[in-house]
Amino acid sequence: MDYEHYFKDALASIKGEGRYRIFLDIRRERGSFPKATWHKDDGTQSEISVWCGNDYLGMGQNEDVLARMKEVAEVAGTGSGGTRNISGTTIYHKELEAELSDLHGKDAALVFSSAYIANDATLSVLPKLLPGLIIFSDELNHASMIEGVRRGKCEKRIWRHNDVEHLEELLKASDPEAPKLIAFESVYSMDGDFGPLKEVVALAKKYNAMTYLDEVHAVGLYGPRGGGVAEELGLLDQIDIFNGTLGKAFGVFGGYIAASREICDAVRSFAPGFIFTTSLPPAIAAAGAKSVRILKNSPELRQKHQESAAYLKVRIRNLGLPLMESPSHIVPLHVGDPKICKRISDMLLEEFGIYVQPINYPTVPRGTERLRFTPSPVHSEADIAHLIHALDSLWARCELNRADIAV
Ligand SMILES: *Cc1c(COP(=O)(O)O)cnc(C)c1O
Repeated sequence: MDYEHYFKDALASIKGEGRYRIFLDIRRERGSFPKATWHKDDGTQSEISVWCGNDYLGMGQNEDVLARMKEVAEVAGTGSGGTRNISGTTIYHKELEAELSDLHGKDAALVFSSAYIANDATLSVLPKLLPGLIIFSDELNHASMIEGVRRGKCEKRIWRHNDVEHLEELLKASDPEAPKLIAFESVYSMDGDFGPLKEVVALAKKYNAMTYLDEVHAVGLYGPRGGGVAEELGLLDQIDIFNGTLGKAFGVFGGYIAASREICDAVRSFAPGFIFTTSLPPAIAAAGAKSVRILKNSPELRQKHQESAAYLKVRIRNLGLPLMESPSHIVPLHVGDPKICKRISDMLLEEFGIYVQPINYPTVPRGTERLRFTPSPVHSEADIAHLIHALDSLWARCELNRADIAV
């Protein structure tokens, strides 16, 4: 039996479509973000500027977070040495969970290896805790939520993206006695649009449903203390379960849920993805807690982040490029073809030292391939000017459409 050809065929099909993923080997340069060094396959190196990262505020190079990470590694060693149940619950994990429950105004929080795992583990265990549960899931929810819902094997209804009328139709048509959960996101990270929090919360009340909100692209960035969009809108107490990450705006690593004591305790007790895995390294947990604490008191950094995004949007719009309408900090530029998208990304990198990954199917629907820029307070005016110059010349050279692409 020739097993290898199955793998080769699978790879050949995505290569044929132009959506084979090539990872770039880089080293970010602390103190000079967004600068990084690109280590090429031929052994040479060059300096690049990262334009597609999710370290939205540059917290990955924050001196105090780094000092905390080093300090705790020195006193507690590298790994935790156990699962949470068996010797892997350290004072640093408890400190982090306290910081996070406070951030979301909840009684409790539970830290996982990542927000992907937190979504998957929580959503897949809820149907076991709530027999007969129906999950109402936005069609553009992140892969980790889709996977969790799928593995939970409960009834599900997919509502059209951000379409609360459709959501209501589906709620109305369901058994009024059945337990229900509405799962959605506050910032959809590929389009940059916000979820309809107010409307969903109202529907949840009307139909007696629980709410599950992924704030991964909002924590640290929105709300007076970085508690996310729910905090900004004064809706913290209206969401039953929050999901968030420490790997994006907080610049460290790890994921979590924040909810009532009973919910967290039940997930802690029943979710295999929480129980049967080594807990975060203590130094990572401590650094995460530090970063959350710092950002609770950094409205000026959030302000700079929003200004940086707004400014880049204006500059791109002034060039007449097909900027996708995004009310958030995400700046998506429509290309609409996987091969062209990859080609522009390659040229930006090789000729201009600008690193922005092409975003292709299945991350986004086919025909909506795009470049997704994530400006931050560490991107200078000069960085932006350089990007604008590069985009302008490539759009001209490749004879790409300008304003006439309506998205
Ligand atoms: C990145 C992402 C996750 C996963 O977060 P990690 O901590 O990186 O695993 C979850 N949800 C959304 C919407 C994301 O974009």
